[in-house]
Amino acid sequence: MKELVIMSGKGGTGKTSISAALAYLAPEKVLADCDVDAANLHLMVGARQRESHGFVAGFEPEVNVTECVKCGRCTALCRFKAIDNGAITSPFACEGCGVCAFNCPAHAISMRDKSAGRWLVSDTRFGTMVHAELGLAVENSGKLVSRVRLETKKLAEKQKVPLIITDGPPGIGCPAIATVTGADLVLAVVEPSLSAMHDLERLRNLCGHFKVPIAVCINKATLSPANTGALKESLAANDVPVVGEIAYDSVFRTAVQTSRTVMEIDNIKVQEKILELWYNLSALLGVTHNESVVHKLDRKLKSFAGWV
Ligand code: SF4
Ligand code: SF4
Repeated sequence: MKELVIMSGKGGTGKTSISAALAYLAPEKVLADCDVDAANLHLMVGARQRESHGFVAGFEPEVNVTECVKCGRCTALCRFKAIDNGAITSPFACEGCGVCAFNCPAHAISMRDKSAGRWLVSDTRFGTMVHAELGLAVENSGKLVSRVRLETKKLAEKQKVPLIITDGPPGIGCPAIATVTGADLVLAVVEPSLSAMHDLERLRNLCGHFKVPIAVCINKATLSPANTGALKESLAANDVPVVGEIAYDSVFRTAVQTSRTVMEIDNIKVQEKILELWYNLSALLGVTHNESVVHKLDRKLKSFAGWV
């Protein structure tokens, strides 16, 4: 089984739209949304929730008010000003360190598991998907990402599918590290802007560190032909394959607004480019095409008079 992870150096590059389009084209697969801080793949693939599971990460104090003697020790010791005389005054500031519970002379505080969100299993138009909802002000998104990936792998093994398509988080922080480790291929979706090129360099270093191969799809390539050219030169010099190049097109916005993939909207030029992207990725991953979808698109592309 192979895992393809779609990443970007920053948000807004079209990463989730490309993930959804690949979900449309790939044959048997399980989808995962590891962009748990801003999950929206479920909207584009028509997810219908089938299972919901609580996710706990870290601890939080619970105070037995009848035992509290209001000595003020917890107030004095909490570095985060989260507790005042046995009352949790700022739950979002609490780091769950347990200092208050350990030092309470009346043993009025106990530490309990902290709910950090939910992980979900949904049916979509393109197969099963595992995704998540992060709790409010919860900072353990890396752990939740690891849980989503674990559950996705279990499901893919159970369903005996050869591929996992994962919509990853932007950037190179904790959730990105949790997403990249152990993947078979990272597809970086990049815009031809100077900042995006800098972000790509950091993502390339991250993938290099974890020994995960990286390939690039340049999205909105026509926004700056000069930067697109420079980007391709730099990637060639570093032996990073450019497996897709897509012109700027408002069809991506239409797709998001109408909860569809770009493959489901008539736009032959974008469909052709994404089909080409999928051909290249499936060759790198060694997985087969969805013949019925590919033939349908091939016929459509060949019959388009203005297309060469
Ligand atoms: S340390 Fe314990 S007894 Fe003292 S104020 Fe805090 S909760 Fe109450
Ligand atoms: S667990 Fe730590 S951060 Fe939270 S209230 Fe107690 S001392 Fe403060």
